[in-house]
Amino acid sequence: MRNILDLSSSEIEEYLREIGEPKFRKSQIWNWLYVRGVFDFHKMSNLPKGFRFRLSEDFKIELPKVSAVKTAQDGTIKLGLSLQDKNIIETVLIPERTHYTQCLSSQVGCALGCTFCSTGQMGFIRNLTQGEILGQILVARAFLKEIKAKLKIRNLVFMGMGEPLLNWDNVKNSLYILRDKQGFDFSYRHTTISTVGIPRPLKEFAKEDLGSIAVSLHAPNQSLREQIMPRAAKIMELDELIELLKSIPLRNRQRITIEYILIGGVNDSLEHARELNKILSHIKCKINLIRFNPGPDIGYAPPEEEKVIAFEDYLRSKGQIVTLRKSKGQDISAACGQLRAEVSNYETKF
Ligand code: SF4
Repeated sequence: MRNILDLSSSEIEEYLREIGEPKFRKSQIWNWLYVRGVFDFHKMSNLPKGFRFRLSEDFKIELPKVSAVKTAQDGTIKLGLSLQDKNIIETVLIPERTHYTQCLSSQVGCALGCTFCSTGQMGFIRNLTQGEILGQILVARAFLKEIKAKLKIRNLVFMGMGEPLLNWDNVKNSLYILRDKQGFDFSYRHTTISTVGIPRPLKEFAKEDLGSIAVSLHAPNQSLREQIMPRAAKIMELDELIELLKSIPLRNRQRITIEYILIGGVNDSLEHARELNKILSHIKCKINLIRFNPGPDIGYAPPEEEKVIAFEDYLRSKGQIVTLRKSKGQDISAACGQLRAEVSNYETKF
């Protein structure tokens, strides 16, 4: 039996056509699922009884289960979610002044094996389905309601486990439902995909205007990128990636985010800052600098503070827009590059 959360808009419409139900039933079903968070067909009270029964015969509603919860001192919440096949993924809720930003996973593990990233060390297990991607938001909302949180989820970032553009079909179909006014109705301005740069889906994402783009660059030249992101560097050479970014059409105030993890003694010198400024000189971008977060089995060190400041100052002096991102949730391994299924280590059970 199929999970109804896995159905695209056109698949639901086709199903309704086949069983002779009007098209507007789709928006009614979506409203129950994605707006009201009701996960029992029999409670969808504005649907005819016979139709509710038919739905329950034809589909199931399957959500990931919260198997563990960790809360950091700064209020960041990491949820360990158990999937139907017992695989575990993680999603993180980052509190801002007026809302939460939710960091979503797109795969169990990741095939790219970037050398600074805990998820990369797990290897690739499988892609998440559309229902599992959307389910992370539904479960997180229910969790926030349960703990009577004051803030709601407003921003979504695909920066959790996995490379979202290597699971493009399911991520793309999820994005359609996320931005659909009858679905989740998230603004494109509040949805960001973070990618190392996978050419075809990146072009498609940009063309369809599905959200903002963040690029995990982390190195200002090809040979260093090959060293710290060996597989990603092979998928697209740095020169090609930069050319592709230059060609992406952007709205008036939109900029591409360049993610750059500063790793002690590896990519954090002034010379690296100069190279970075040079390759980005014709790209409308903002640069997010992130201090490397030490993780288990990763042989890198965080950067020295003076180097971080010098790197940041140099880029600013050249007119770049730079943010030195405070890594939230560091004490619970929820920060960038630290997501990894480690359920046995959770302290608090939900
Ligand atoms: S940084 Fe992203 S692409 Fe690289 S291994 Fe980690 S999850 Fe995969």
